[in-house]
Amino acid sequence: MQVAVVWFRNSLRIHDNPVLSWAYESENVDLILPIYIFDEKIHLRSTQTMAEHRLRFQFDCVENLHQNLKNKFDLDLHIFSGDCLEVFESLREQLQPFEVILLHEYSTNPRDRKQSETIENKLISTNQTWSAKSFPSSQTILDIEAIVGSSGYKPPKSMKDMIRLFKTEFGDYENIIFETNDPNPSSLKRSQGLSVNSKYQVSLDKIQPLLTASGYFLGGENEAISRLEKKVTSQHDYVKNFSKPKSISTNVQGNPMEPTTTGLSPYISTGCLSIRRLWNSCSEIQQSSEHTVPPVSLHGQIMFREMFYLLSRSVENWDQDSGNSQCKEIEWGELDNALLDSWDSGQTGFPLIDAMMRQLNATGWMHHLGRHAVSCFLTRGQLWQNWTHGRDIFERKLIDSDWALNNGNWLWLAGVAPFSMPYYRIYNPCPDSKSSLNVETKDAEFIRYWVPELSEFPSKYIFEPHLAPLHIQESVGCLIGKDYPNPIIDRKESRKKNLQSFKLSLEKLR
Ligand SMILES: Cc1cc2nc3c(=O)[nH]c(=O)nc-3n(C[C@H](O)[C@H](O)[C@H](O)COP(=O)(O)OP(=O)(O)OC[C@H]3O[C@@H](n4cnc5c(N)ncnc54)[C@H](O)[C@@H]3O)c2cc1C
Repeated sequence: MQVAVVWFRNSLRIHDNPVLSWAYESENVDLILPIYIFDEKIHLRSTQTMAEHRLRFQFDCVENLHQNLKNKFDLDLHIFSGDCLEVFESLREQLQPFEVILLHEYSTNPRDRKQSETIENKLISTNQTWSAKSFPSSQTILDIEAIVGSSGYKPPKSMKDMIRLFKTEFGDYENIIFETNDPNPSSLKRSQGLSVNSKYQVSLDKIQPLLTASGYFLGGENEAISRLEKKVTSQHDYVKNFSKPKSISTNVQGNPMEPTTTGLSPYISTGCLSIRRLWNSCSEIQQSSEHTVPPVSLHGQIMFREMFYLLSRSVENWDQDSGNSQCKEIEWGELDNALLDSWDSGQTGFPLIDAMMRQLNATGWMHHLGRHAVSCFLTRGQLWQNWTHGRDIFERKLIDSDWALNNGNWLWLAGVAPFSMPYYRIYNPCPDSKSSLNVETKDAEFIRYWVPELSEFPSKYIFEPHLAPLHIQESVGCLIGKDYPNPIIDRKESRKKNLQSFKLSLEKLR
């Protein structure tokens, strides 16, 4: 009897899931054991690597996967908590009488690769009854491993490079519909589920009470599919006219939680939504008429994502400040915990920065241009702090946290990478209606919502409330310096000083 252990790691879905399809349809598989391993300790609603919203979102996804596997395939997802190898060792004991094949999807992430290597060396190669089958990653459209390993591969620097690559790989890439791999539960059912008992097994009922954070974004494949329908497949004009640089960073007017972009990133990064499914939905809509093109279109956004996956796999020390070919080693200031804490908690005295950071803290998400504003502010703009400090905070808090993308975008915004925007283009953290941060300034609804201390401020002063005359501050019941912080830094002076320091640092590197 052969048991297929289907290891869910980065694709928490049943649609377009080649691993599940293979297990379900393979003639040699008699029993299927779907598993998910959580290898961190939960303490105070969070873990070392996941803040509360990210953790809660992750478990929403696992719960939904559990339901879908049960309802559609009559399979029980077994959830384990503990060190991966120990979990597999306990499974090995349970599965003694069987021949076992471990099915998993390849991942470019170094942590996952290390995990797979350990399992291969310590479990698979030492047990005759165990074998493993690794499937190409379905996290990306390109076969990252094959491309970075091909002769003539050069790390892409821009969208032009990506367009060239997509043309070479797929020809008429804008119209292509990729094949997806959807297991068909109504097909002749070959495999039965299997149950095991292990001391590492946990029930969702025990974990959920530990995760009380309620967020705007609910995790899971069902939510992913309904958001895809709501924002993409039913919105032909929206897709055809999608232009990222024009999207408003302060969310939808009337709903300060809802992104003006698709808001699909949390579902893509947890693998609740297949990236091929999103690409295909856009291709189908675009085929019928004129549409925007990369870099500004939705396909363009996906191609940026692919670019960072390529770079993260091929550039050594991708997440480091030094020894990283994509990072100029700028002499950033000493870590200043007081400055970093003000930024992190949304208490800088700059309402746009604070509103964005408070949204991150309350929901785990922020618009792309909001991320531009706060990362520029923390690094080359105002606070002159090393980009890796902000990167770490984003990594823990973002519900769309993705190692390849987070590092890539921080490198981009810090001005240190070959693909960065010019370092001297610094965003004004107190924007007006013409700012390329695309902030809604007339009603400033977003600021009023996320920084309620300022809710009664006239729009004229709301982005720089410390400049409001005292009688206005008194009349709206918010004294700057008492009810809301004074700016933690002089934005103009710091900008000037940082530009000079950046230039000097670059000269030293020459
Ligand atoms: C400092 C900083 C850190 C970031 N960290 C992350 C991260 O950890 N995880 C993450 O998914 N995105 C990250 N981004 C990229 C981007 O901000 C988000 O992907 C985007 O805001 C998600 O919103 P959306 O789904 O509505 O995007 P849409 O505009 O609707 O785009 C659709 C999809 O394309 C991809 N995409 C869009 N923009 C980018 C981009 N610049 N780089 C790579 N992929 C992109 C995402 O998967 C996104 O869901 C970061 C950006 C910055 C500036």
